[in-house]
Amino acid sequence: MGTFIPPFLGPGEHLFEPAASIQAVFGPFTIRPDGMDDGHDARAYVGQVMGIVRMVETTRVGKAVIAEIRSRKKPVLIFPLEQVDDVMAYAWVYPRWGLFPVVVSFTPLFGRRLRQFLGDEEQKFDKVYTPHETIVHEFAHVARAVSGNFDRLGDDEEELATMVANMFAVEINRAPVNSYDEMKSVTGNLAAFSKTYYRDNFDMIEAFCKQNKTLATELSYVNTTFNPIRLYMDENL
Ligand SMILES: [Zn+2]
Repeated sequence: MGTFIPPFLGPGEHLFEPAASIQAVFGPFTIRPDGMDDGHDARAYVGQVMGIVRMVETTRVGKAVIAEIRSRKKPVLIFPLEQVDDVMAYAWVYPRWGLFPVVVSFTPLFGRRLRQFLGDEEQKFDKVYTPHETIVHEFAHVARAVSGNFDRLGDDEEELATMVANMFAVEINRAPVNSYDEMKSVTGNLAAFSKTYYRDNFDMIEAFCKQNKTLATELSYVNTTFNPIRLYMDENL
């Protein structure tokens, strides 16, 4: 008997945590509160995550990303994120072997839990992601994974997910960030920023449009002032 070693182990993940007995299946997503012993907390977790996914799906950007995930007919597991000391993560996504080809580790951060996460120094952060923005970022990674594109952009996978979350943020009237690396809120002329972003990330956007044609096309139709994909399509297709 060999030992099963998963291809990736996420930060804070307990490999042999028994799966929670309650779960909710919502489209391609299975929301399972692994590691939550308290039934009340577990149900609250499922309800919160479900509410966030539903809200996200009412937006154009969220709908496009979730439609792409749905179309691939691969189940996606969402389970609670345990914060670990050396990795500050809002959430993470990894491909897996087995029943769920993709897993998302995510716990919505509000109020006290959010302040704790930020080390009680919220003012030091130029951008604090809402749980809705966080899940859109993660779902962009999921869409890449279920379409067979996981990591094909290398380091730019993060920038791509950041761009999609930016489009969502602008759709719900929040400020986008300038880049994944800098994470600075952009205020002011978003149309001008959209153009600069498009030029700075041309190769990534072009690769994305080729690798995820349907999703890129759907996103290009979203009528937001920040839409570098539309700029690419207008100029190149
Ligand atoms: Zn990411």
